[in-house]
Amino acid sequence: MNMKRNGLLFIISAPSGAGKTSLFKKVIEKLGDIKASVSHTTRSPRPDERNGVDYHFIRQEEFQEKIKRGEFIEWAEVHGNLYGTSVENLKIIQDRGLDLILDIDIQGAEKIRKAYKDAICIFILPPSIEILEDRLKGRGSDSEKEIQKRLNRAKEEILHYKDYDYVIINADIDKAADELRSIIIAERCRVATAKNILSLVGGM
Ligand code: 5GP
Repeated sequence: MNMKRNGLLFIISAPSGAGKTSLFKKVIEKLGDIKASVSHTTRSPRPDERNGVDYHFIRQEEFQEKIKRGEFIEWAEVHGNLYGTSVENLKIIQDRGLDLILDIDIQGAEKIRKAYKDAICIFILPPSIEILEDRLKGRGSDSEKEIQKRLNRAKEEILHYKDYDYVIINADIDKAADELRSIIIAERCRVATAKNILSLVGGM
C-alpha cells in the first residue's frame, strides 16, 4: 500500500537581511521530510558559506553554459550576480515525494509560480527598514556599497509581498520559525494534498 503524497513546493522570498537563512535552518531541522534547494550563483562565498551546502558557487562562464543547456528552471540577476534554480533540484519533489523550499527572489518566484500553480508562496518581512539595515551591517560580510544596494532593492521588493499566499514578519526568530512551521504543517494537511491517502479509504 502506497501512502505517499506528492511533494509540496514552497517558494520563500525575503529581502536580503530579513533573517531567512537562520529561519530555514530552524524549521528544516525540526520538520524533516523537507529540503531547501541549493541554487547556483556567480556571487563569491561569504566567510561562513560552504560550496554545495549554501550555494553551488560557479564562474560566470559556467553559469552561461548552464543557461544555454537549459539546466535552469529559472534564473535571475540579483545585486549584479546571477542566481539560478536547476531543473535537477525540482526532480527531488517529483521523484522522492519530499517537500522542497525554494529560496528565490521575486523575479524567480514569479517565473516558478507560472510553471507550478500549486506552489505555496511565503514572503518574509523584516520588522522595519532600520532593523534590516542593522542586520545587513551586523553581518559584517558586505561592503557599505553592497549594503546600500541591498537596502534599496529591499525597499522595492517589500512592495511585492501582496503577491504571496503568506507573510511572516521576522521580529523574533522563534516566533517566525513557529509560523513558518505551522504554514508547512497546515499545507501538508490540505485535503487536496492528501487526496492520494484519502483514496485508500474511499469506501468509508
Ligand atoms: P544572497 O546573495 O543574499 O544569498 O541572495 C540574494 C538574493 O538572491 C536573495 O533574494 C535570494 O532569495 C535570491 N536567490 C538565491 N538563489 C536564487 C535562485 O536560484 N533564483 C533566484 N531567482 N533568486 C535566488
